[in-house]
Amino acid sequence: MLRRYRTVIVVISVLFITFLHYTTIPTLYPLHHFYSELYYIPIFLGGLVWGLRGSVFIYFMVLIFDSPFIVFGWSGKFLPEVARLYNLILQGVFAIFVGLLSMREKRIRDRAEKMRYLAGLGQVASTIVHDLKNPLITILGYSKRIREGRGDAGEAVQEISEAALRMQKIMNDVLDFAKPMRLDLKAEDICQVISRAYGLCKVRAVKEGINLLMELPPVPVMMNVDGFLLERALVNFVNNSIEASKAGQSIVVSASLRKAQLSVRIKDEGVGMDKQTLDNVFVPFYTKKNSGTGLGMPISKKIIEEHKGTIEIESEPGKGTEVRIVLPYEPGLKP
Ligand code: ADP
Ligand code: MG
Repeated sequence: MLRRYRTVIVVISVLFITFLHYTTIPTLYPLHHFYSELYYIPIFLGGLVWGLRGSVFIYFMVLIFDSPFIVFGWSGKFLPEVARLYNLILQGVFAIFVGLLSMREKRIRDRAEKMRYLAGLGQVASTIVHDLKNPLITILGYSKRIREGRGDAGEAVQEISEAALRMQKIMNDVLDFAKPMRLDLKAEDICQVISRAYGLCKVRAVKEGINLLMELPPVPVMMNVDGFLLERALVNFVNNSIEASKAGQSIVVSASLRKAQLSVRIKDEGVGMDKQTLDNVFVPFYTKKNSGTGLGMPISKKIIEEHKGTIEIESEPGKGTEVRIVLPYEPGLKP
């Protein structure tokens, strides 16, 4: 807001001071001097906002506005005129000083930003390479065994294809995370979206002996959503719950409608999260799993936020986790 109007603010302050400066010429001479000192403020602001060019430009603007007064207010007396000249020179020196300081500050800030960016990029690159390394070692190891005719070829092929799938997942996650997200919004029954996500996770839950349950509103809830992406976010949350749970534990996926909000909850009885995990759960590449990418939660957060929704997490180590997603709901949408 302030950034948008900063030019206007600086120019208006110069004009306003000039106005005060001129209207006090005949009557309030001491005030008149005081107002000319106020020119330091826009010069300072100009330097702060645009660097040396800004402060010097504002200084010249002040000089131009002041020039009629310099010419017509000529007193002919030596000391007052020297004082005025001194004041003008001082303002010029001030403009250069503020401009140079502000540019130096900006250069330092830019350099620090660039270093941070490069460090971040390096960290991301090494994380991805590190994640890809393990499945690659598996593939190389098993293909060598096949070549040398050692071990069970069927088992080797199985291990190789699992490792390749793992590499594919890492690459897909990284790509999903890196590319800008564009929603393809369509009127859809959110219960259907949740059911699809539930269906995708059910097989795995059954295989691991986990009781995956679903509680949905009895009527269709039509919403303008990108069903595909929302389904993926839900799958990520439910998969995390499955990965945190043991056989015999339950996970409940439920949805409820209240006024202008739809809330979806994914509640598990799994390992839960300590404070450090909870604080970092949305940080890209943060994972506590050996085979995790740490991108599931950040991608899901992005999807929910693109839908103007929010995510809250409540978790207690040893007790379980509840992820609560709240999406804005507008009634009256037809299928
Ligand atoms: P990944 O699943 O690949 O580790 P995520 O971004 O999906 O990456 O999750 C990041 C971390 O958050 C997980 O490694 C896990 O420690 C923690 N986490 C997320 N959901 C849960 C949950 N339901 N219960 C316990 N821990 C969870
Ligand atoms: Mg995950």
